[in-house]
Amino acid sequence: MKLVRFGQLPSVLAFCSLAACAWVLITEIGSFRDAVGSWARRDLLARTQLAADSLAEAVATGDFRRIRDFGDGCRREGVRLTILSSPGGVVYDSATQVFGKHAGRPEVESAISTGVGMALRKSETTDEEMLFCARRTGEFVIRLGLPAARVYAPFQRARTGLVLAGLVGAFSIFLAFLFTNRLIARIRERERLLAEMKREERFRREFIANLTHEFKTPLTGILGAVDLLGDGTNVTPENRHTLLELLRHETIRLNSLVQEMLVLSHLEEDQLAKHFTFAPADLSEVLKAVAARLRQKADAAHVRLSVDAALPLVVPCDVQRMETAITNLVENALRYSGSPDVVLSLSSRDGKAVVAVEDHGVGIPQEHRERIFERFYRVDKDRSRELGGTGLGLAIVKHVARLHKGTATLLPVRGGGCRFELAIPMT
Ligand code: ADP
Repeated sequence: MKLVRFGQLPSVLAFCSLAACAWVLITEIGSFRDAVGSWARRDLLARTQLAADSLAEAVATGDFRRIRDFGDGCRREGVRLTILSSPGGVVYDSATQVFGKHAGRPEVESAISTGVGMALRKSETTDEEMLFCARRTGEFVIRLGLPAARVYAPFQRARTGLVLAGLVGAFSIFLAFLFTNRLIARIRERERLLAEMKREERFRREFIANLTHEFKTPLTGILGAVDLLGDGTNVTPENRHTLLELLRHETIRLNSLVQEMLVLSHLEEDQLAKHFTFAPADLSEVLKAVAARLRQKADAAHVRLSVDAALPLVVPCDVQRMETAITNLVENALRYSGSPDVVLSLSSRDGKAVVAVEDHGVGIPQEHRERIFERFYRVDKDRSRELGGTGLGLAIVKHVARLHKGTATLLPVRGGGCRFELAIPMT
């Protein structure tokens, strides 16, 4: 779904823009401070020029009243006015009543020698970081001073605003990230459920189609035979025997089908309801019992059936169902493999008991192996039906394995044949 694939895009974009803003801010913040500083310098220079022009006459004539008025006006605006005589002696200072010598102050030195001077430094009088601008006018130097905090106030305000905006932005991105993540998780979960539902629906439809087919084939045979027998005409004693044989064969097939369907549905029910109980049982005894029961069938098929389970291996299991699963595997080997021998063995591996049924017959081609445990899946449908198979044997094996929290696997045998392994946990 596109939304899932691109769901993170808004957060990613927001994150990128925030990162870009942060980067620009970090790299440009110095230039911004410089710009604010140079604007303040220009402004102070202009003001000093204005002060020098306004006070030139008052300074020359010693009009202290005018100077004091001007100084008071400056103070009210937060600007410090200092008037110095050329060698650096303070004549007037709006910030203090105690006038000392200000020679040696860089801005004053520069004003005396070049006409104008500017410096950003700590004031020795007020102990405050100040931006000073001094201008020489005749024998005097007019100096204006601005507290640096005031000079850089716009920069400080902008910086605080940007940091706050950054924090709000970061928090919004975090929220957006959480939100999209939750949204995507929900969509994914919904997609998963939908896919599961679709798969189950497909399985259900396939199952019903297969089941109908499995029932229809023997029923058609049975109906045909019953019709012929009922009609009675043209039925020779030999034909009657053949028809009865057919009836018997198809009825047995239907019966096996119903029996296996029942086994499978009970297994599924138990698995869902989880109301099964396991008891410790020696699997080597289970193997021997299955072999003993199938010995006659193996002899009739001229197959050497052997058991390789010398040591007892006790595991918690449902004995009856384990017997059913192992019987299915051995019967399949006898029925389909054409192998001269079938070996039933028991071993332990990675904390699991492994029951294996191995033959050296025709084997199962690679392309069928993945689906062989599905219900009604067969390699050769007609042959399986002819031999009395229902197509449910391996599905039952798989369910028995699952019921025991184990696995059922098919492995190829070198030189041809099949090895079915049923592995179940020992504890
Ligand atoms: P069926 O009732 O047809 O035996 P199963 O689920 O038990 O159904 O087996 C599915 C198919 O797997 C069989 O029809 C057969 O084609 C194939 N098969 C199973 N075991 C063997 C084996 N040992 N050798 C060859 N083919 C096998």
